[in-house]
Amino acid sequence: MNNLIIIGSGCAGLTAAIYAGRANLSPLVIDGYEPGGQLSLTTLVENYPGFPDGILGPDLIENMRKQAERFGAQFKAGAIAEVDLSKRPFKVVTGSETYETRALIIASGATAKMIGLESERKLVGHGVSTCATCDGYFFRGKEIAVVGGGDSAMEEANFLSKFASRVHLLHRRNEFRASKIMVDRARANDKIHFITPVVVEEISDVSRGGVEYLTLRNTETQAATKLPVEGVFIAIGHEPNTKVYRGKLDMDENGYLITHDGTQTKVPGVFAAGDVQDHHYRQAVTAAGTGCMAALDAEKFLDAHKLSDAAL
Ligand code: NAP
Repeated sequence: MNNLIIIGSGCAGLTAAIYAGRANLSPLVIDGYEPGGQLSLTTLVENYPGFPDGILGPDLIENMRKQAERFGAQFKAGAIAEVDLSKRPFKVVTGSETYETRALIIASGATAKMIGLESERKLVGHGVSTCATCDGYFFRGKEIAVVGGGDSAMEEANFLSKFASRVHLLHRRNEFRASKIMVDRARANDKIHFITPVVVEEISDVSRGGVEYLTLRNTETQAATKLPVEGVFIAIGHEPNTKVYRGKLDMDENGYLITHDGTQTKVPGVFAAGDVQDHHYRQAVTAAGTGCMAALDAEKFLDAHKLSDAAL
């Protein structure tokens, strides 16, 4: 029987583990299928407070993990196959194990959707990015591309135009899913150049370890062209990792968990933190902030249920 299980070991989960560990709750962190979360897929993080020269994403995560271990957090690898939240103790099932817990923090994050190219995967953090706020600054004075036709793509293109010399907005259709006002704003921006209807077929050059040009295919004419850019931002949406909670917890129409009064879900004793419940800010520091909140909320909950929990 655990006091507290934390699902997810990104910024939110690890911050929750630090706080819960220091509160003597001996939390058990279950890594999930992307240990370290999105920070482990980035290179330099320059906007996490406390690191004036920046810090590598994987190093930041490793430091947080050590900090959590120092206060007694335990870690187990394993993707969550099932959860039973119908009564306490809650049950969390991974491939091979079933764990019981008095309280649960879900910090399983959201995964940025990718186009699915091998070159895209190999160049993540080396010119390919899924976060304009995180990486835009590295492309000052450079020519870059943004892929997508939704509000995120428009917003990122506008944001990136503050740094880049030119932003090519690449979308697979001539119509946009984004709201008209966002498209109009992007069209009115001199630095943004729309190219439609195109798909990115290849990101080059993997052998040189960086982005030099994209191979685009026009979906109407099938013509292939090369677009020289030094960076490409994939802005085709995110997927919250919430499949196992369907029907068990409240979610919005995109599958993000809904919280109230801090980090509480509709099931007392189940809390949510980080990108799994935030499609708006999506920053390491905001994820850490809600991870802290979730640990404090869980601690308060466990304290209030101390007497009845003795029987669990
Ligand atoms: P989205 O609305 O789902 O748009 C995703 C875009 O990516 C679509 O244009 C889609 O093309 C394209 N796409 C999807 N898979 C692709 C692939 N494999 N290859 C190439 N293109 C692909 O996602 P989002 O833009 O992240 O927005 C998510 C939600 O957040 C929306 O509700 C949005 O309104 C909201 N949001 C709001 C704001 C704001 O108001 N400030 C800012 C950001 C996000 P198709 O259109 O052809 O399917």
